[in-house]
Amino acid sequence: MKKVVKFGGSSLANAEQFQKVGEIIRSEESRRYVVPSAPGKRFDNDTKVTDMLYQCYDAAVSGKDFGAQLSAIKERYYEIIRGLHLSLSLEEEFSRIEADFKAQAGAEYAASRGEFLNGKIMAEYLGYEFVDAASVIRFDKDGSFDAEKTDKLLGKKLAKCERGVIPGFYGAMEDGTVKTFSRGGSDVTGSLVAKAIRADVYENWTDVSGFLVTDPRIVENPMGIDTITYRELRELSYMGATVLHEDAIFPVRKEGIPINIRNTNRPEDRGTFIVESTCRKPKYVITGIAGKKGFCSINIEKSMMNSEIGFGRKILQVFEDQGISFEHVPSGIDTMTVYVHQDEFEEKEQQVIAGIHRAVQPDFVEMESDLALIAVVGRGMKSQRGTAGRIFSALAHANVNVKMIDQGSSELNIIIGVSNEEFERAVKAIYDIFVMTQI
Ligand code: ASP
Repeated sequence: MKKVVKFGGSSLANAEQFQKVGEIIRSEESRRYVVPSAPGKRFDNDTKVTDMLYQCYDAAVSGKDFGAQLSAIKERYYEIIRGLHLSLSLEEEFSRIEADFKAQAGAEYAASRGEFLNGKIMAEYLGYEFVDAASVIRFDKDGSFDAEKTDKLLGKKLAKCERGVIPGFYGAMEDGTVKTFSRGGSDVTGSLVAKAIRADVYENWTDVSGFLVTDPRIVENPMGIDTITYRELRELSYMGATVLHEDAIFPVRKEGIPINIRNTNRPEDRGTFIVESTCRKPKYVITGIAGKKGFCSINIEKSMMNSEIGFGRKILQVFEDQGISFEHVPSGIDTMTVYVHQDEFEEKEQQVIAGIHRAVQPDFVEMESDLALIAVVGRGMKSQRGTAGRIFSALAHANVNVKMIDQGSSELNIIIGVSNEEFERAVKAIYDIFVMTQI
């Protein structure tokens, strides 16, 4: 059994957290490849080392003295080294970093040092081999990630490495120029390593025990999700549920490798398994509820619209011409409504209205703003009677007015439009009807 274990910044913020991580890794032989993030926040108002590095590099580029900033970063690492009673010295690395900052080696190089140095400490602490991500994660000449080359390089290197630490977040181009993924990108590195070694599981350790059925800011102590499919996760993340970097899904999904989200502070919790498919019945009919505020609807009405071929295309063309993406397009016989993000739409509102008038000569166009969309997602809804009925009766009891309903034929999710003000009440009502009544 081979596992790749990725630890997020809060799991590695100080020596105490490192010790927890050490215990987790040592408690299972199979945890052979470790992908660390840079040290994150130790307390609420703390600064992540990655942000400290960006700021320090900014100072270097603008010709300011960055000595104090670099020392503060150094101290973050030495605090960990001392706390773990290691005799590791990072002096050479820091001299190199200082020189590279002076030579303006790039903001991505600067940020990558956060994981690089944490990887050095981790390797020393565990007695694992340090594998510099710059030698195995490849970006091509134009700076985009090269999946094929990376898979080959990683596979080849790790075949000869029994136990290794591969820092997250960065890689390099052929000429050695360091590149990073977008923020939170260590998740992606973990996934790439898992794919390359054909891991049995990719464990992603963070500070929550997996995904929750809904947002804890709306519902107090919501239940956790045991198992979720990639498709369900995609629906929920799109609607705002974030635990994992989006790009971390594709590499392992292709290989059928499950991701297990775990909590470093509660290793006894099983966490959430993200899988391609499963015959495990979800605990509740629904897997999760997520949603977003800040949408706008544009309702276009024209009699006999239903028989006008190309009507929908012409309308959507107007949005495309203005560079606005649409979310949902429910329609009636003589009406079509387009849901868009309010912030994207507001500035171009008048151009869109004029465009619609020119394109289809509607009878009238009506707009409504401050709307929220809620996605109720669940593989368990398929071929189950009554799910929609339960949602809408719960909403009616909670005095929520439903403005829009959209269910695709995949039966994986039901999207509901409500006003921004009723959003939280609606989410709570749906949670209660599916989860609280089952306990
Ligand atoms: N350290 C990087 C960040 O703060 C990458 C990561 O943690 O995954 O975004």
